[in-house]
Amino acid sequence: MIPRWQVRITIVGLSLVLAAGLSAAAKPDQQAVHTATMAPQAATASKYVYLTFDDGPHPQYTAQVLAILRKYGVRATFFELGRNAARYPYLTRRADLYGHSVQNHTWSHPDLRKVSWATFKSQVQSTDRTLRAQTGYTPRCLRPPYGATNSVVSRRAAALGKKVKLWSVDPRDWSRPGTSVIVRRVLASVRSGSVVLMHDGGGNRSQTVAALPTILRTLKARGYTFYPIWCT
Ligand SMILES: [Zn+2]
Repeated sequence: MIPRWQVRITIVGLSLVLAAGLSAAAKPDQQAVHTATMAPQAATASKYVYLTFDDGPHPQYTAQVLAILRKYGVRATFFELGRNAARYPYLTRRADLYGHSVQNHTWSHPDLRKVSWATFKSQVQSTDRTLRAQTGYTPRCLRPPYGATNSVVSRRAAALGKKVKLWSVDPRDWSRPGTSVIVRRVLASVRSGSVVLMHDGGGNRSQTVAALPTILRTLKARGYTFYPIWCT
């Protein structure tokens, strides 16, 4: 059965039909839509940054982060724990609805270098299932807890269809150094293409939330565009 959107594209041209058909076959529809939406922008912005938030969703801080990102029209990536997404599925759904990327940070935050293959697989796949139930697509990125990775972790991630995604700017917001310190650390280190690590779960993240508006305002003023990460 040919989906209706594909019929509409047929009018435009045969090459588009083939491209869209392949894309739809290779990944779930929702992700195909996201990818199609993001790819042209990623190619045109000269200065761009990827904001990422780990360890949520959290009923207070994730909701606040989502509201701030929405206010500034910024899209980011949420590396969620499966156990938190299972508890607060509406926040995973909201992140997806607002155009953010929702990706895999394992079920319960173990050091993936120290677990068996069976545990690795269940940590990743149970999280995949929980996130997919809210977003409609399977995450392609895996962020290992603590950034703890090695060749075995990468190989196992690849076997599950995942790319390991770390970061390049770490303001250590989780240590609660003060809102202005978080702001300063991010703004001093960001370059085009940076992946910024922040946290919307796993503890008191009020300093991260408070730092966010200044970070967004300043980076926008510097001409940055914000993209989510899909690992496609
Ligand atoms: Zn984490």
